[in-house]
Amino acid sequence: MSAPQFSVTRNPHPASPERRAEILADPGFGRYFTDHMVTIRWSEDQGWHDAAVVPYGPITLDPSSMVLHYGQEIFEGLKAYRQADGSIASFRPDANARRFQGSAQRLAMAELPEELFLASLSELLSVDSEWVPASGGEDSLYLRPFMIATEVGLGVRPSAEYLYMLIASPAGPYFAGGVQPMDVWLEREYTRAALGGTGTAKCGGNYAASLLPQAVGAQHGCAQVAYLDAEEHTWIDEMGSNNLFFVFRRPDGSTEVATPDLRGSVLAGITRDSMLTVAKDLGYEVTERRIAGSELIDGAADGSLLEVFGCGTAAVVTPIGTVKYSGGEVTVGDGQPGPVTLALREALTDVQRGVAADPHGWMTELVPAPASV
Ligand SMILES: *Cc1c(COP(=O)(O)O)cnc(C)c1O
Repeated sequence: MSAPQFSVTRNPHPASPERRAEILADPGFGRYFTDHMVTIRWSEDQGWHDAAVVPYGPITLDPSSMVLHYGQEIFEGLKAYRQADGSIASFRPDANARRFQGSAQRLAMAELPEELFLASLSELLSVDSEWVPASGGEDSLYLRPFMIATEVGLGVRPSAEYLYMLIASPAGPYFAGGVQPMDVWLEREYTRAALGGTGTAKCGGNYAASLLPQAVGAQHGCAQVAYLDAEEHTWIDEMGSNNLFFVFRRPDGSTEVATPDLRGSVLAGITRDSMLTVAKDLGYEVTERRIAGSELIDGAADGSLLEVFGCGTAAVVTPIGTVKYSGGEVTVGDGQPGPVTLALREALTDVQRGVAADPHGWMTELVPAPASV
């Protein structure tokens, strides 16, 4: 099957260059969207078809569209960065394409071929290239591919029709005033994902289920929630949208960089995977293992736990200063981002910004540099 060609319909009313500059000067996160979006449809009869770049705008859905009732929806999140030569590249987009297929499989949805996923990124970025911030800083264009079940009807079964879409939103540095530590709520009642459930899929439903514990955490002054496993309520899973890393000092004085292993409920973050590689490259001893919630609390209290951070595409690294839980709180180290956290963050963001060597070939060009005149 050959990949469908994309039709391109230009937005007749794009943002003015002045308005775009104003937005790019202070984009925040997920507040503004570019002038265009991608839509691709799938049906049992036609497979993937009608690939199009169209003006960004509302879509029309029949009220009985299956996504609105049974939540068949998946998404991805990745960033495009302007490189010094003017080209536009993304960080491991092939990994996002494969994970999107894995999520589709878990939710019994049609799987978008990797080439079509990557082509959708290139097509949108070519048309909206001026929305990709200048190179050098930590600004990026956040890309949000997603897919919904569009067959009409209330029968409970996999939809026979899907709509894939791609939208893009300029993103400023997550920590505008320098990397700041966050407080995390260690949630011991609600869980995020169970073995055999949808925890390994990037689906909206997981996020819907996390909003109540998120609100509980917020009541305790925490911006993030860390979850325990659903079976024993003992082992650390991850945060709602970030994987977790821990830096321990072992009794023999050596340092261990540890993250929970992928045992069937943790979402396999691409930042997590890259962080494991970068940490090894920097010479740290790295382990993927079960980590008990008590190791976090006791380790922070007795000083054997030196640093904790979350990692994901949006913030890259989120240092954790204080862990709160029902009945107490502990501060990790001195509560400030630790040296290992900062070293790993810098090593990864330097590759993404295109200012460091890329020995693993992670950066993928999606739009070539404009031809020099
Ligand atoms: C997306 C996501 C992450 C982070 O994945 P990255 O690929 O690093 O952005 C972690 N946990 C959950 C639940 C997620 O949805």
